[in-house]
Order: sequence, then structure tokens, then C-alpha cells
Amino acid sequence: MTQAILTLNAGSSSLKLALYPLTGDRPMATGLVDAIGPAAVFRLKGPFGQEIPTVAGDLSTHAAALQTVVASLRGTHPDLTLLCIGHRVLHGGDHFSAPVTVTEDILALLDPLAAFAPLHQPHNLAGIRAAMAAFPGVPQVACFDTAFHRHHPWVNDAFALPRAFYDQGVRRYGFHGLSYDHVATRLREIAPQLAEGRVVVAHLGNGASMCALQDGRSIASTMGFTALDGLPMGTRSGQIDPGVLLYLMQHRGMSGDEISDLLYRRSGLLGISGLSSDMRALEAANTPEARQAIDYFVFSAQRELGAMAAALGGIDALVFCGGIGENSRLIRERICERLGWMGIEIDHLRNSANATVISSDFARTSVMIIPTNEELVIARAARAALGIGERSVA
Ligand code: ADP
Repeated sequence: MTQAILTLNAGSSSLKLALYPLTGDRPMATGLVDAIGPAAVFRLKGPFGQEIPTVAGDLSTHAAALQTVVASLRGTHPDLTLLCIGHRVLHGGDHFSAPVTVTEDILALLDPLAAFAPLHQPHNLAGIRAAMAAFPGVPQVACFDTAFHRHHPWVNDAFALPRAFYDQGVRRYGFHGLSYDHVATRLREIAPQLAEGRVVVAHLGNGASMCALQDGRSIASTMGFTALDGLPMGTRSGQIDPGVLLYLMQHRGMSGDEISDLLYRRSGLLGISGLSSDMRALEAANTPEARQAIDYFVFSAQRELGAMAAALGGIDALVFCGGIGENSRLIRERICERLGWMGIEIDHLRNSANATVISSDFARTSVMIIPTNEELVIARAARAALGIGERSVA
């Protein structure tokens, strides 16, 4: 019998998965069902990245896709038994600062948080419900992107609004917590002394944010009430004067839905460049607009890094992760080039080689690349729920 843990990340039209053994960090399989519906695409890979054949099943809904995924996994592991399913959930609100085993009561607490994260939460929870229906009796563990940030000091948790709003949940939650959890854990393994210090992690992907870590715990994040704040992203605006939104509503007649579409889907790198949300495409394009999009991204990263370092009272290490942070030599170099005042100085050969440590030997502040792995964090939480991991799950 092959006993394993499945991790799921259900988006609006996608289902990302990984199958993990009960011990060890290497997944037995990873996969993605994209464009769920009539034109869905399903790809599955083995532990060494090799393509695995998939069964030709129904991919028209998340629930159907889950069945097809498991049928395909059974193609290579005929005696597969799922012991636990771990889910990525964007919002745990004020309730959860750790993963939790899902019950109907827990779902009732998580459902209303869809108002805070309408683009993600309903799909995340639909994924859990589909898995509960398909695998009754198998524990389902929810892992929250907000949980890692739940111990922020009050000044980094609140807005300067009348107090009642804070009490009603209008707070700075912060996101990308699973990614920061992984990076903090890896940093403790590879540089334990630095991990005890003041570290800023820059998660730069399609979504982008920074997190200030003090002794491995988040004390501040650039994202706030929603995953819109802070850095500009592939299609999201990042930090914006709220007066702009008032103007768009009051004088340009834009509705809430139109503004939501503007801020989440039409802004950021795509909005500025008019070309693409993809950093690789912008680096290759070399048009004035693409250059401006990169300039804006780099400048915002430098400004937010200053804010995170101020929250920490200094900085001992800067860590890059995410698709851009892990792969773009140009963006790392551009962000670091005016940060000598922070003790940041990168070694160009190390940066070109995507080395783990990319700062020069003489620099006061270490600069590192630590590839993120949100699935592994979920798998470990699922193991903990089964009593075979180091962390406790409620
Ligand atoms: P998500 O937030 O969806 O998980 P990723 O972390 O995969 O996204 O990051 C996607 C981003 O990383 C895209 O903008 C992509 O262009 C960028 N990226 C990936 N590889 C490179 C590269 N070699 N150079 C520059 N950008 C890259």
C-alpha cells in the first residue's frame, strides 16, 4: 500500500496539486489542471520532473478534476491510499494563526471571509468541499496565507480608521504566509545565526510582497487587508492613494466591480507596460513602456524594503524568492544597486549564477536566494495533523 498526502491549491479555474510521501521533502508527483471547463489542460509530473501520463477523465468542474487527478495518480501508484489532504486557503481571518483540521464548524467560520478575498476564498473552500465529498473520512487540513502574520504588533495590524472597523475585521492581515514560513524554516537550516536576526524576505512572483522577520517571526508585511497593497504585481496595482479610488467612483462613475477589475486584473506590470504581466516578456521587450514598468517595480521594491527594514530597526539579510526573485538576475541586481546605504552589495558572478548567497564577502548585509515551496509547508502541516510531524494542528 502506498500511503501519501495530497496537497491542493484550488484557484478560480485551476487546481494545483502535489502528492507527498509520509516522510521526506520530495513529492511523488506534482500537477496542474488549468482552465477548468471545456478546454481544460492537465499535466502531471513525477518526482524528477518527468511527464506522467494522465487518464482522459472529466475536467469540467473542480470536483470532476479532483477525481481525474486521483485516477491519474493511481495509474502510477495503483495501491494509493490518501491519509490526509492539505489545502491552501488564502484567508484565515483573525481566527487562525496555525493550520487547522477542517470541520463543518470551521467552514462556517471561513465562508464569510469570502467578503475579504472574493477572488480566492470561495474557490479555496470549494476545493475543500469537493475533497470532503470525494474522500469522506480523510482528514482535510486548511493552511492559511494569513496565519504566519497573526502576531504582528498592533501598529502593523491596524489602519488609522475609527476603532469599530478594526473590531469588525478591517485589519492588515498580510499574505504569502506559506511562502514566508518555508523561507524562515530553510533559513534556520542553512544560516541559523542570520535566521535569529532581522531579515526581509521579498516574495516576487505574479503576486509580490515583502515580509519583515525578527527571529523567524513575521512582524510586518507590505500586503494589508487584501493582497492588493504594497508592491506592484503582474496585474495588481500595489500601494495606491485611496483618493484615486474615490475620484474614480465619484467623478468617473466607476462601479465597485469595475474598480475591482481595474486593480486586480488590469494594473501593475500589465497596466504600465500595456504589453504583458510577465516579467520575462518585459525584460525581453525593451520598449519605453516595458522599461517604465520595470523601473516602477524596482523603485517600489526599494521603497518597501526601506519600510520593512525600518520596522525591524535595521537589516541583517535580504532573501529573494518567487518566480522573479529566484530567476531574474536583472531585477535582483536593479533592486540592490542603490542599497549600499543598507549594507547591501551583491556579487555579480554569484547573482548571475543564481547562487544561494549572492552578496559580496565584504557586505554588511547578506543577500540570498531561497526557492520557496508552499506545497511542502502544506504537506508538513498535514503530517502534523496525522501526528507524524513536528508542528501541532488544532
Ligand atoms: P505565481 O505568483 O503565480 O506563483 P511565480 O512565482 O511563478 O508566480 O512568478 C511568475 C513571474 O516570474 C512571472 O512574471 C515570470 O515572468 C517571472 N519569471 C520566471 N522566470 C523568470 C526569469 N528567468 N527571468 C525573469 N522573470 C522570470
